[in-house]
Amino acid sequence: MTGVSGLAARVEAVRQRMAAAARRAGRDPSSVALLPVSKTRPAEAVAALAAAGNLSRFGENRPQELAAKARELGGLEWVLIGPLQTNKAALAAEYACQFQGLDAVRTAEALDRRLQALGRGMDVLIEVNTSGETAKHGVAPDDALALASDLKVFSSLRPRGLMTVALNSPDESAVRTCFGRLRDVQAQLRDASGEPWDELSMGMSGDFEWAIEEGSTIVRIGTAIFGPRPPGAPA
Ligand SMILES: *Cc1c(COP(=O)(O)O)cnc(C)c1O
Repeated sequence: MTGVSGLAARVEAVRQRMAAAARRAGRDPSSVALLPVSKTRPAEAVAALAAAGNLSRFGENRPQELAAKARELGGLEWVLIGPLQTNKAALAAEYACQFQGLDAVRTAEALDRRLQALGRGMDVLIEVNTSGETAKHGVAPDDALALASDLKVFSSLRPRGLMTVALNSPDESAVRTCFGRLRDVQAQLRDASGEPWDELSMGMSGDFEWAIEEGSTIVRIGTAIFGPRPPGAPA
């Protein structure tokens, strides 16, 4: 299916699979948010999906692309889900409502400085590398507590939870182990800080049902809604 009705139908199918997974786990389906990931998709497709699927928040993994779409499409909110170089902090501060990839103090510092200048705050999620793959972003599970504690001095950053990209594998138990690690880190942070750290952003097109069964509160879905990304498009 192509076009707007195809997009709307795929969003609805994803929502139904999300709700079914939540119920299987004894969870309220409204406790899991869908974050559609619009990276590499043209602004017109995003605008069409926003209208057809009643969606107002989109995930992007590159600050420049996020900023370009934010400028082109008014009335939507943008979540940065990829890594942030300090020289792109100004773009993120101006155009993103949430940053899900925080994994270094120097990034937090740069972002905070830009946010202070704009008189804004931002919700942030610490990214944790739960798969142990060296190519993945995120702090090691054992380092999350230290980063969380270092964030306290940056008053424009509002820590809300954790994010992870699980192992890309058909091995269900290996993938679930990644999600379980994120939950364990959340428990540690809650104990140590007394703060809720409520959001667990975990689950993508290939693994979101397992993630919901493991406690996800935000699933980041690209291809299951928009179809395969064009070959050669940046991951
Ligand atoms: C691209 C991306 C997604 C969405 O991936 P799909 O497999 O297309 O659903 C989710 N999270 C991050 C961090 C991404 O870069």
